[in-house]
Amino acid sequence: MTKLHELAQLIYPNSTVTIADLEAKYPPRDLSDSAMVTRFAPSPTGFLHTGSLFASLVSYRMAKQSQGVFFVRLEDTDQKREISGSAEQLINQLHLFGVVPDESFLSGGAYGPYAQSERKFCYDTVIKELIIRGDAYPCFCSHDELTEMRYKQEALKVNPGYYGQYATCRRLTTEEMISKIQAGMTYVIRFKSHGKHENKIAISDEIRGNLELTENDQDIVIMKTDGLPTYHFAHLVDDHFMRTTHITRGEEWLPSLPIHLELFDRMNWTRPKYCHLPVIMKLEEGRRRKLSKRKDPEASVSFFLEAGYPIEGILEYLMTIANSNFEEWRIANPTLDMFDFSLTFQKMTLDGALFDIEKVQSISKEKLGAMDSKMFVSRALAYAMQYNKELLSIIESDVDYFERIIAIERGGEKPRKDYNTFMDILPVIGFMYDEYYYQWDGFVWPFQERFTKDQIHLVLQTYLQNPGLSLGEVGWFENIKELCASIGFSPSVKDYKKNKEAYLGHVGDFAEIIRIAVSKKNSTPNFFQILSILGEENVKKRIRAVQSILK
Ligand code: GLU
Repeated sequence: MTKLHELAQLIYPNSTVTIADLEAKYPPRDLSDSAMVTRFAPSPTGFLHTGSLFASLVSYRMAKQSQGVFFVRLEDTDQKREISGSAEQLINQLHLFGVVPDESFLSGGAYGPYAQSERKFCYDTVIKELIIRGDAYPCFCSHDELTEMRYKQEALKVNPGYYGQYATCRRLTTEEMISKIQAGMTYVIRFKSHGKHENKIAISDEIRGNLELTENDQDIVIMKTDGLPTYHFAHLVDDHFMRTTHITRGEEWLPSLPIHLELFDRMNWTRPKYCHLPVIMKLEEGRRRKLSKRKDPEASVSFFLEAGYPIEGILEYLMTIANSNFEEWRIANPTLDMFDFSLTFQKMTLDGALFDIEKVQSISKEKLGAMDSKMFVSRALAYAMQYNKELLSIIESDVDYFERIIAIERGGEKPRKDYNTFMDILPVIGFMYDEYYYQWDGFVWPFQERFTKDQIHLVLQTYLQNPGLSLGEVGWFENIKELCASIGFSPSVKDYKKNKEAYLGHVGDFAEIIRIAVSKKNSTPNFFQILSILGEENVKKRIRAVQSILK
């Protein structure tokens, strides 16, 4: 046994698997050449970030479009930062958005395990081999020694880091390494770089095109003192053995790419294709900045769910920021499923996608407007059950009644669009329920100031005597015209405008007074239908109640 074998054996006495064994266990996937294997690799350290949903949507669609495979791998090697339950929540939220992995740490699959904490046997195998080849070595430098070295480098104005002459442990003899380990010193394992900082390497990113980056020359840590791998090394081993073809990840990883390329090349493994996705940005006081977990509620996918945005609204919005030609396609194909659109890496923005909450709202409004009543009601109910008890009790008090309200002006070519989110339901139609309508404390009735209390009273009294609800919508409106004319309002807005002095107001003003009295609002969905759903008795009761406060 050579000294290097002895060292490797000392560090990994129990690792008996070989790289060849792993190659056999995880053979190349049986897919066509054009099929993409992509993944989402979250760390279970908190909520699902909007940027991560975006990245996983793109990864998922690219795999599905090419009849490939999309999997979710849990990057749980930083156990101090782990938040229990967050991994399951991440997967559940992805499922809600239809991003359902073919393989994952929950469902399993042939290339598992899918949690890095369970893949130590893979990392150990590869590191053992690297040590034997002389491509990796234990480093015993303490935190203080590394800090001191950094100060020295700063003073000398040389590149910081563990490389070349500064890589002290690289120069230890294998015997020295062995005896330090035997003496119980703690250590990490570093990869021995062959790169030079002066060299440039040409690489091609699927989204960013050809790039020139500085070659890696750092002896990076690949295994931490706790025996778990760093991101760089786990990426190498996992994406190789899980046979990922396209690494779709945030552009914050682009600077580390030279490290990853050196690792793949040294192993003699085929490099995957890299696709560095734009980071989601926000405009604040005219300046772009990253959507921040700390500052921006919309950085969390839960924010949208709790506020009742429809899933398809959020997804469609993400498609618009994913590909610059999506909106054009949508205009040409208004009724097609959004996933009939083929995403491409070429049409991805390069300089950060700008997140526009107003646009999410307007797309969501379209989606909610286009839903049929049954679907709307069942989705509203599901939302209310999880997030909005007040809405739930309203809906459950009489589901039919709720559905009749929701059905007003729904369907047809130009459906009414009242709601950006399910949370808007109560503010828009709460007045249809007595418990909201009769909350009058401090309420300021939005009647036009030019009408006196007496005039308002008179309008209400006139209507009360003949509500006309049995006449049908056209008959009802004809009746309103006659009623208004009987007390000095013009049944024609045009005539009123020609000769304002001759009238108290016009038919619209007359109807508005009734609308406000019945709904507390000066705009509602189709008023005749509102009145019909409320029913004549209820309408009269409300009008009388308003009259009583006008006295
Ligand atoms: N766990 C890494 C992250 O959350 C994954 C990056 C990658 O996709 O490779 O940023």
